[in-house]
Amino acid sequence: MWEDYIFAESIDNALEALEQYAGRARIIGGGTDLALQAQQGKCVSEVMVDLSRIPGLDRLEEREGWLWIGPQVTHAQVAASPLVREKAGLLAEACGRVGGPQIRHVGTLVGNVVNAMPAADGAVALFALDAQIEVTDRLGSRWVPIEELYAGVGVCRMNACYQVVSGIRFRPLPPCSGWAFLRLGQRRANILPMLNTALVACLEDGRFSRVRIAVGPVAPTPFRAHQAEELLQGQPASQDLLAQAAQLARQAAHPRNSAVRGSREYRQAMVEVLVRRGLEQALAMARA
Ligand SMILES: Cc1cc2nc3c(=O)[nH]c(=O)nc-3n(C[C@H](O)[C@H](O)[C@H](O)COP(=O)(O)OP(=O)(O)OC[C@H]3O[C@@H](n4cnc5c(N)ncnc54)[C@H](O)[C@@H]3O)c2cc1C
Repeated sequence: MWEDYIFAESIDNALEALEQYAGRARIIGGGTDLALQAQQGKCVSEVMVDLSRIPGLDRLEEREGWLWIGPQVTHAQVAASPLVREKAGLLAEACGRVGGPQIRHVGTLVGNVVNAMPAADGAVALFALDAQIEVTDRLGSRWVPIEELYAGVGVCRMNACYQVVSGIRFRPLPPCSGWAFLRLGQRRANILPMLNTALVACLEDGRFSRVRIAVGPVAPTPFRAHQAEELLQGQPASQDLLAQAAQLARQAAHPRNSAVRGSREYRQAMVEVLVRRGLEQALAMARA
């Protein structure tokens, strides 16, 4: 599979190792995507650089008004975290739906983001949270909005042969907000979704504020239904308006025909259903 496996002692040490191998080494998280890619000949890196022995990277905590998630945090940790459940329940819900227990205990949320699949459950929830991703290289660290990180199916703008994702952060949801994470799949476990949607909506004086609707896989990257969000922004909540927003999301979504995941027409129709249901759920939660 690969020729060497390095346990880095620090992020600097990991970056040094990557530099030394000049494109032939790559960061590995839980390996749930990478190991399969290596078996299929799709990952050509000769050396894996593992961050799991660096203290503190498996933490999940509040830092200066942000919720911070370290690069070694697994889906199981996120799903079980009381902090995430309280401050950003949709992410806990999404991570709790990834794969099965074995995958969730090994696979990391950062790996889910960098692997750049438009259906990735954790990444779709992070889109609805307006998350930022910390990219670290020899020049330093910078926070990048998650939407800017994606270039296409499986194509991430950060390069794991030279750079490290050293954290994820987002603002906790305010008390006026409600959320939903809904998923359509052929079975409940160990399968990527036919569709998923993550939504956040705040209600202030009976009007929508800060609405975010993320959907996957209906485009080459996880997708934000910005037109539907704009329609709702500042408007009083009504069933009619939710239906119109769901219709806009459907029109903007362009799922592909898939023998495994269903026809384009079916999935496009289901975008409208999931977004409407999700908005209803988020609205009920915000009102409560
Ligand atoms: C049976 C099965 C079922 C699955 N079901 C689902 C599902 O339902 N939903 C879903 O969303 N996904 C699913 N997956 C996909 C996978 O489990 C997730 O994408 C997982 O989160 C990947 O994380 P990882 O830590 O294993 O990443 P890895 O496989 O280790 O790495 C993935 C990518 O991220 C890069 N990377 C990892 N960590 C870093 C870092 N710190 N800095 C820079 N680059 C990094 C790697 O170089 C690689 O490019 C499934 C996979 C399997 C095998």
